[in-house]
Amino acid sequence: MISISKPYIDEKEQRAVLAVLASKLLARGSVTNRLEQEFAKTCGVKYAVAVSSGTAALHVALCSIGIGKGDEVITTPFTFVATAHAILMTGARPVLADIDSSFNISSNSIQKFITKKTKAILAVDLYGRPADYVSIKAIAAKHKLYVVEDAAQAIGSTYQKKKAGGLGDIGCFSLYATKNITTGEGGMITTNDKALYQKCQLLRHHSQDPGKSYEYLGLGFNYEITDLASAIGIEQLKKLRSITKKRISIAKKYNLAFKSIKGLIIPDNPKEVEHVYHQYTLRVTAEYKLSRDGFVSQLNSKGIMARIYYPKPLYYFSHIKPEKFNVRDYPNTEKLCGEVVSIPVHPGLTHDETTYIIETIRNL
Ligand SMILES: *Cc1c(COP(=O)(O)O)cnc(C)c1O
Repeated sequence: MISISKPYIDEKEQRAVLAVLASKLLARGSVTNRLEQEFAKTCGVKYAVAVSSGTAALHVALCSIGIGKGDEVITTPFTFVATAHAILMTGARPVLADIDSSFNISSNSIQKFITKKTKAILAVDLYGRPADYVSIKAIAAKHKLYVVEDAAQAIGSTYQKKKAGGLGDIGCFSLYATKNITTGEGGMITTNDKALYQKCQLLRHHSQDPGKSYEYLGLGFNYEITDLASAIGIEQLKKLRSITKKRISIAKKYNLAFKSIKGLIIPDNPKEVEHVYHQYTLRVTAEYKLSRDGFVSQLNSKGIMARIYYPKPLYYFSHIKPEKFNVRDYPNTEKLCGEVVSIPVHPGLTHDETTYIIETIRNL
């Protein structure tokens, strides 16, 4: 079976972990500091704070801008559940807007959901493609809202030449095993705002007073990453450019091969974005000769792992469902959710595997 994702690691990561083990300094320390500096540079921002997961990054980022009980945060229903869970973890309500054909949150839809309680827009750069930050930021400026960027899938991508992680007021990344670069589990927060940076550092470690151990300035968490994980992250960052190039080159081959197949729609890739193809996601429409689920089972039976990200919009989970839910607010989510299918695009794919995937789909 050709798997849908595979970490791109070699002896470099192994050696880096062994060196940390030999140092006997396993928890967060100088290795994590180095990872944070390199990560901030990669994202073109001033500051980065490493945490234990992407979910932790989102939770801390939302807390740092003061989100809590009674607040509303507008986000997309078409994302990994962690995006909405992080909002719920603060005590605030996720308010779900519709998406557009980019699979990301629709700015037109956001407008409809703004209330007096709205404090932030949490946009997701789904599949590795940044959301439409020009219109998102215009709405945010008009209503004095923060913009939080869930860039868990989008490290290395750009929007109008600006890097993901620096597109909102604060950005969040995941370093989970299936993401474009990984530390097994891990996360990162990025920002240019010094006050938010300092707040995130506090929240990661029980809000301990930076000037005095065992003094606490408020509620905080243990969202610490280890230097073992950070050592892997440093090596992974060095590979980011080549990982991204490989993903884009496979996606370009797919685009060429699939663009004229009737009923299949390839991911669009407008000039203002550089898509890093965390997922390569096709739309299987009604004009195609098979149903979407038929397409998936055909590929799976031929040894190609094809997956649906995500099979269920978040408003169908009772703990996330908006108070005044009306499915007619979500025509695009409803339609696209029934059409999407992601196929392998990870940098470990061989030339032969890529060719096999292309030929298999063309001959279905
Ligand atoms: C992976 C992911 C997360 C959560 O990251 P974890 O490291 O698994 O906690 C959040 N949002 C999106 C869009 C993701 O893909």
